[in-house]
Amino acid sequence: MAVESSPIQSGPSIESIASVQPSLSQRLSPSRGFLRGLFRSRQSLRILCYHGVVADELEGASWVPDYFVTQSQFREQMQLVQSFAKTVRLNDVFGKKGTGNRKSKPTIAITFDDVPACTFAYARPVLNELGIPATFYVSTGLVTARRIPAAEIVGLLRAYPKMRENASSPALDEMCEQPNVHKSLSIETLQRILSRVDGQVLTNAPQEAVHALKPLSWLQLRTLVDEGHEIGGHTVDHAILSKQTKNTRIRQVTKCFEDIREHLQIEPVGFAYPNGGPTDFDSDDADVLGASGFKYAVTTQAGFCTNSSPTFALPRVSIGIGHTRMRFMLELSGILDKRRRRQHGWI
Ligand SMILES: [Zn+2]
Repeated sequence: MAVESSPIQSGPSIESIASVQPSLSQRLSPSRGFLRGLFRSRQSLRILCYHGVVADELEGASWVPDYFVTQSQFREQMQLVQSFAKTVRLNDVFGKKGTGNRKSKPTIAITFDDVPACTFAYARPVLNELGIPATFYVSTGLVTARRIPAAEIVGLLRAYPKMRENASSPALDEMCEQPNVHKSLSIETLQRILSRVDGQVLTNAPQEAVHALKPLSWLQLRTLVDEGHEIGGHTVDHAILSKQTKNTRIRQVTKCFEDIREHLQIEPVGFAYPNGGPTDFDSDDADVLGASGFKYAVTTQAGFCTNSSPTFALPRVSIGIGHTRMRFMLELSGILDKRRRRQHGWI
């Protein structure tokens, strides 16, 4: 995302009600047995979407996006998942000819978009320690250039407004002051506006932020492959496909596939649409993905993945800093799906 749809929006929270009435909290929080039964009854797969995983001491730092989680939070969530469900790599589910079998046991897939360096440092040890396979969707041009995604640059400029004092422009100011402007631009326009401040940010932002937000290197991605994780595509430049010209959106998919094949010597199977909302891609993009060699694609539409889910628009649930243990369990149960779909424009 960099910024896929914000995982949690403020508003009357279930926690705030529960904090006043502990007994209600217990009633609202699904038990592991309930979760196990729910997944079995639906014969379904749930795909979780993470972005950055940061050191615990960075919780509350102004530059940490709300779609990141801390390492302790991530560890607790993975232990909970492991306590009632089987975890799978999506390329094992969707990558084989004639399959598409998305269920049978309570099944959860762990995925990461963008994959900043902090995720390698703080999520990878937890995954490997618990033996959980995961999928990492990368924007290949950003990996090659080790360039921080635009959404995170904008986030840093918002957290440290002095960094743009000498490079201010109406377009940059608008982008920094209105949350979703950067998601509405073509990748060329976005890069042109940000090119005036990229250097400032890399030099003057807290270096712990710069190091955490830089994408992984190809070498680090190779390490993840060797450890049994899946690497998938997320375009070349983190381009929201529907905002690009036809030629650009085709290139963003086809070159992404080729880059992964060239640098990692693997055939990528999965793809995550940047931002992943209902207006961020269409069926033409799905056709290009299929023709390029991808076998499935994930969105940020909250829901269970069943045998009737479209293979190139699979639902996925975004997890962020606001997911307390109870909220995470509610998220797994699907109780919040309808509200989340409404928030993100799916219904
Ligand atoms: Zn992304």
